[in-house]
Amino acid sequence: MAFDAYDGVMNNQTLSQHYQQILGVTEPWRVGEVSLDASGLSIEIRMELNSDTIWACPTCHGRAHIKEWEERRWRHMGNCQFKIFLSARVPKVRCDEHGTRTVQVPWAEGSSRFTMLFEAFAIEVLRACTAKRASELLEISWDEAALNGFWEWLGVEACAHIKAISIDMGKPYQNSARRYFPQAALIFDPFHLMKMLNGAVDQVRREEVVLGTKSAQSSLKKTRQLWLWGEENLPARHSARFDVLTASTLKTARAWRLKEMWRTMKQCVDVHDALAFFKKCYALCMSSKINPVKKVARCFKAHLAGIVPFFMHGFCNAVAEGVNSRLQLLIQKACGYRNRERLKTDILFHFGGRDLSPLSAQ
Ligand SMILES: [Zn+2]
Repeated sequence: MAFDAYDGVMNNQTLSQHYQQILGVTEPWRVGEVSLDASGLSIEIRMELNSDTIWACPTCHGRAHIKEWEERRWRHMGNCQFKIFLSARVPKVRCDEHGTRTVQVPWAEGSSRFTMLFEAFAIEVLRACTAKRASELLEISWDEAALNGFWEWLGVEACAHIKAISIDMGKPYQNSARRYFPQAALIFDPFHLMKMLNGAVDQVRREEVVLGTKSAQSSLKKTRQLWLWGEENLPARHSARFDVLTASTLKTARAWRLKEMWRTMKQCVDVHDALAFFKKCYALCMSSKINPVKKVARCFKAHLAGIVPFFMHGFCNAVAEGVNSRLQLLIQKACGYRNRERLKTDILFHFGGRDLSPLSAQ
């Protein structure tokens, strides 16, 4: 499919027919105007309705009349580097028995912001790679709105079972979780806490490389990656050199030792133990005179209410990632899902049980 490179409306009969075919649009809907925004790299497809359509209530299929209209927009599969969007004014019909109902459109399910074809494609991409890579490839982000959409997709009943949510410290995630689960405990994922500490160690190293003594500068040459390894997974060929480095008086070494101390927090057996450990680590960081480390410690303290529940609920994103790989296996077993309602049912069936569940924490 080739487009002329210009912005604006393409009242091209063939183009409309093309989209009519690939979208599988049926009566009473048809493809109307197709417009191309070359600078924004997007194609907008306007869906139109035959004006003489007789409507039925989506629930009882009895005769119903249009009460109002709702403007909606859906993301569709891309075409080359162009993102494709569908938009339409969708009627809301009034049934005496069932009240006001939004009419179902043939290209999308429920209140989804994606077309069914896009969703099926997204599931295929998720089968082939990680959720992070999939979100990059599909150019969809897990922002607050997406997360809200996910909770709504999951449904009120499933959400009511959620007792704890493991998230990172990003404000949008916290907002979303607070809004949908005021009853649930927010748990900050230890993986993200470690990522912050690793960031602090690296910042200390970068400063010391510039501002440290001549001997510190030469000791730190080509050590960036070394400091990011945990003590137990450092490759053997580096161990002799790293032993000397970590035992040294380098500022970077002191920051690294503090980081390693935090790492042992996960060995705490309960909340009391964890709180005592936290106080000790916090005090040591604050007296360290290492600003990046102090900054992280202060941040941890501000989010303490989300760190301690980890020791109550005993689960974290590592478990969720395990679930993710099991989920991919489930999708592969079923040879791909074409229908997200079925996928949802199967997820709840396989993961809603007592063994390992992100939906109902122990
Ligand atoms: Zn009805």
